[in-house]
Amino acid sequence: MNEITSLLYSIPTNVYILVIIMLIILITILFICSISFNKILLRTYNAQKVESGEFVYNVMSKLTEKANIKTPELYLFECPVANSFSITKKKRKAIILTTTAVNKLKPEELEAVIAHELGHIKYSNQPGSFTSALSWLLFLPTTIALWAALLCGFGQEDDIAPQFVRSYVMALVGPLTAAFIQLTTSGSREYVADEYSARLCGANVLVNTLKYLDTGDRICDVNPTHARLFFVNPLSDNILNSLFNTHPSIEKRIRRLEGIDK
Ligand SMILES: [Zn+2]
Repeated sequence: MNEITSLLYSIPTNVYILVIIMLIILITILFICSISFNKILLRTYNAQKVESGEFVYNVMSKLTEKANIKTPELYLFECPVANSFSITKKKRKAIILTTTAVNKLKPEELEAVIAHELGHIKYSNQPGSFTSALSWLLFLPTTIALWAALLCGFGQEDDIAPQFVRSYVMALVGPLTAAFIQLTTSGSREYVADEYSARLCGANVLVNTLKYLDTGDRICDVNPTHARLFFVNPLSDNILNSLFNTHPSIEKRIRRLEGIDK
């Protein structure tokens, strides 16, 4: 005990001051990111707001009328696969769809996807801004490493060298970030949103939509810390990505929905 006390006394005061300043800076960054997380999220995917009167907006407002809930904001972002996510903050509720979801899904399938996101909004069960911002910050060194490699002339973004630097840093910070995400995310909220969609649009429609997404390409280039927000897991099936997956498997979701229908 005395040894620990004397060790603490031997550390120069400047070190303590530096640590306290760094902690204050980190807490301030976390606080700012937490407040503006949803804005950062929409900007990350360059999501464009859809105004009332447009086809997809009308689909959503018919559903909110049927469900008797307030119509959230609606956004679209460019992505080659059908997927979606939602923002369920008290002061801001929004559904964000990929352009492919709007262009490729049948109207009833699009309704089922929107109804699933309305389920998240109804029960406010998407991960909170604080845990989302913290996981994003924990994973941020991978993006910084990639930028640093590009700035140091290691090549273009898709070249092996910068991707190796990024993968190396990802291997260091990824498992910790993924563990934090697993601890703060409940997979059962997907079942709750699925059941809500089934009640609004019919379980069969959602089953068909999930089957369609399961057989087609569902891989989309998203930040792994955002993957838990999406309708279906958008990450490819490598070992590191699997650590970030909080979705129940599509087979399990389908089996549960088929149980509702009986
Ligand atoms: Zn969901």
